[in-house]
Amino acid sequence: MNQSLAIEEEITLFRKTIEAFAKKEIEDKYSKWEQDGIIPRELWKKLGDAGLLCVDIPEQYGGLGAPLQFAASIVDEFSRLGYSSISGNLAVHSNIVAHYILNAGSEEQKIRYLPKMASGDFVGAIAMTEPGAGSDLQGIRTTAIKNTSTGKYVINGSKTFISNGQNFDFVIVVAKTNQAVPAAKGTTLFIIEGDSNGLTKGKKLKKIGLHSADTSELFLEGVNADSSQILGQLDQGFITLMRELPRERSILAVGACGAMEGALEITVKYLHEREAFGKPLSQLQVIRHKIAEMTTEAKVNRAYVNQCLAQLERNQLSTADASIAKLSTTEAQGRIVDGCLQLFGGYGYMEEYPISRAYTDARVQRIYGGTSEIMKEIISKDVLGK
Ligand SMILES: Cc1cc2nc3c(=O)[nH]c(=O)nc-3n(C[C@H](O)[C@H](O)[C@H](O)COP(=O)(O)OP(=O)(O)OC[C@H]3O[C@@H](n4cnc5c(N)ncnc54)[C@H](O)[C@@H]3O)c2cc1C
Repeated sequence: MNQSLAIEEEITLFRKTIEAFAKKEIEDKYSKWEQDGIIPRELWKKLGDAGLLCVDIPEQYGGLGAPLQFAASIVDEFSRLGYSSISGNLAVHSNIVAHYILNAGSEEQKIRYLPKMASGDFVGAIAMTEPGAGSDLQGIRTTAIKNTSTGKYVINGSKTFISNGQNFDFVIVVAKTNQAVPAAKGTTLFIIEGDSNGLTKGKKLKKIGLHSADTSELFLEGVNADSSQILGQLDQGFITLMRELPRERSILAVGACGAMEGALEITVKYLHEREAFGKPLSQLQVIRHKIAEMTTEAKVNRAYVNQCLAQLERNQLSTADASIAKLSTTEAQGRIVDGCLQLFGGYGYMEEYPISRAYTDARVQRIYGGTSEIMKEIISKDVLGK
């Protein structure tokens, strides 16, 4: 058997493990978590015990050293099953924050955080966005100013829309360290632990979807950080942020593919069951063509995302190509969940039908991790120049 066939078989088995985990630990509890507005902290530990966190982190740091496809398939599978709050929060933890630490962290930071992230003892978050700065990250106001007598940085500012904002044990905070230069040259990333003096987890924000994702505000008032808490180089935070963007956007694209395919699966099943005018809806030509169109869109997007993942694995994925994947898949996801909901008729509008959740959960995909408009800015600059 050739190597890629063997990996494909392993991934199929791995997906079955994820599905079994979801059936046992999530299925009958998810609606309650959606009402509570948070997934319980214990779920993180269970995910860790089941080997579903940070799987592509090297074994020496507590991961499984698995290829990227395995890490992606976890987000993919939870999205396909309709648990997008979990896939989104898990992606931030395993596919984004853990890789910031792996790629930019000191040896001490890797040893302190990565094994605990893999076991689910630590949950990670990243705080870039502020009430006054999202797309335009250079407009952040959070500052980290060095106190010359203590040698420590003192961080002040407010952040918002932070995923894992209640459950996190540590957060990567983006702060300006040099006011005299543009933010791109004077911004630093700091690892701040959840119990630090001056750090307050703000309110859990009420959203139209992803209800059990604990998206929150975050306040930093005189938080002290020493140099060992700097992630990467002083004043070089933007370089680290830019370097990690292709991974971040690819994983959002993977989630979009999973969610589209999941929405199509439940819709096809419904169309076979539901009858109108004396026959199943699945036999009406206009509906058959709609399904054909949506399936085509989902499959073409999946093929492009697979190509991007292969490039990412070789460290060759450009920011523009990752942006194309994010733009295309999340826009397609929006169209497909809308089209699928329509085929459920009035039942699609009812909360008890999972397609309604797929619809509300999908909306944010075109906003976070860089909006569709920002993706178009990046792609057009790549094609046309500045
Ligand atoms: C559920 C959720 C989870 C999130 N999780 C995190 C997280 O964990 N960490 C984190 O740091 N952030 C997180 N975010 C924040 C997210 O990344 C931002 O919301 C996003 O980047 C957009 O920023 P903004 O909301 O400030 O919108 P704005 O930047 O104010 O944009 C408003 C509108 O203007 C458009 N626009 C802005 N600039 C341009 C331009 N140059 N050209 C054309 N159009 C433009 C935008 O596309 C958008 O349509 C999360 C957000 C949500 C909703």
